[in-house]
Amino acid sequence: MIVAKFGGTSLASASQIKKVCDIITSEPARRIVVVSAPGKRDRDDIKVTDMLIACAEAGLGNGNADEELDAVIGRYAEIASGLGLDNDIVDVIAEDIRARLDSDKSDKERYVDNLKAAGEDNTAKLVAAYLQSIGHDARYVSPKEAGLFLSDEFGNAQVLPQSYENLKKLSTYPGITVFPGFFGYSLSGEVVTFPRGGSDITGSILAAAVDADLYENFTDVDNVYSANPNLIDNPRPIIELTYREMRELSYAGFSVFHEEALVPVYEKGIPVRIKNTNNPTAPGTTIVKERHCISEPVVGIAGDTGFCFIYLSKYLMNREIGFGRKLLQILEEEHIPFEHMPSGIDNITIILKQHHFTEEKEKKIVNRIVDELEVDDISVQRNLALVMIVGEGMRNTVGITARASGALARQNINLDMISQGPSEVSMIFGIKDYEKDRAIIALYNEFFK
Ligand code: ASP
Repeated sequence: MIVAKFGGTSLASASQIKKVCDIITSEPARRIVVVSAPGKRDRDDIKVTDMLIACAEAGLGNGNADEELDAVIGRYAEIASGLGLDNDIVDVIAEDIRARLDSDKSDKERYVDNLKAAGEDNTAKLVAAYLQSIGHDARYVSPKEAGLFLSDEFGNAQVLPQSYENLKKLSTYPGITVFPGFFGYSLSGEVVTFPRGGSDITGSILAAAVDADLYENFTDVDNVYSANPNLIDNPRPIIELTYREMRELSYAGFSVFHEEALVPVYEKGIPVRIKNTNNPTAPGTTIVKERHCISEPVVGIAGDTGFCFIYLSKYLMNREIGFGRKLLQILEEEHIPFEHMPSGIDNITIILKQHHFTEEKEKKIVNRIVDELEVDDISVQRNLALVMIVGEGMRNTVGITARASGALARQNINLDMISQGPSEVSMIFGIKDYEKDRAIIALYNEFFK
């Protein structure tokens, strides 16, 4: 059995939805289909999810969301008419979104999540109706009916373990099940969404729950590429990747597949295949547990901005038992996750995401570190980028650091930090954020040209 998830650009218009349905019906194993909300039809278009957020904001603001609502209903009406569906389905969708707009506004996050989820929910109804209209046995299944329960963290939910047992039954449903991505229900019955782009997570949960043979993730590119195609002309396509490699690349900016979406399939060892709705015969990129062919040390180069470093030093730090624990405890108490923590003998760098480390938090945390840990020196550097080279083959290849740092040195890029994770699947370079793109190009030229 295959679970196939289709992203926003695959559902952006009637003609795209027809391609999706051709793909679904051309392979009988594709019995569970997860859909996103309609995405952008072109660069300047607006995603339905963003239109729904605008509706929610208008509803919460002056209470009048007529214009925003008309725009969303217009998108669905255009798609429905392009699919040759009658107006009844548009009425159902309009009524559904209106009811969400009129719902209780006392908790803003809950209200916004309820509206955001309307994109996927109504797209699933539309796709099921179209499949039926062309003679297929298909039906929309609601995450509530199926038992997809999530933590009650609005906009940032996580799956609750009992969902897997509940969702198992989907494998016994006849015909094609069309399931909306991106949201589920809290145990108290509220709609809760995953982080943005979270339909990938829904697909992965369903694939794990029904023990699928394959999780297909249809998007608008033929492959995952070894570097960002906006920076490098025709970057090398990646045919096979391990879960570990994909996780590292997503962490540092590869956005083809949501970074949280690998966990459910990883635990079951289910392969994931990224494919292109606009070119479905292309082989795509397959993500597997172990790669058989490791001919090159590096598979991909990624980079992301928005990091900051706290440097601290204290003479004889290495002798002070409990220093690390106390330091991390301060971060824990201030609710700041840390990303990396490379260290020397008497000094440590803590790397954080800048959006967690506001100026206010900085003041408080720096004062606490100075008072409680009596450090000799502490400084904070903002606006940094992490650039990563990733590949299982790096483990058994001598000289990768020399090649990478040489390539960066030739571009006169100063390294604020180098770190190689213990798994040796990736190497991270901390640099100034304005040098990120140049660094990626330099590393790409070193390893792929
Ligand atoms: N529609 C949601 C978003 O735009 C979720 C998704 O597409 O996966 O973030």
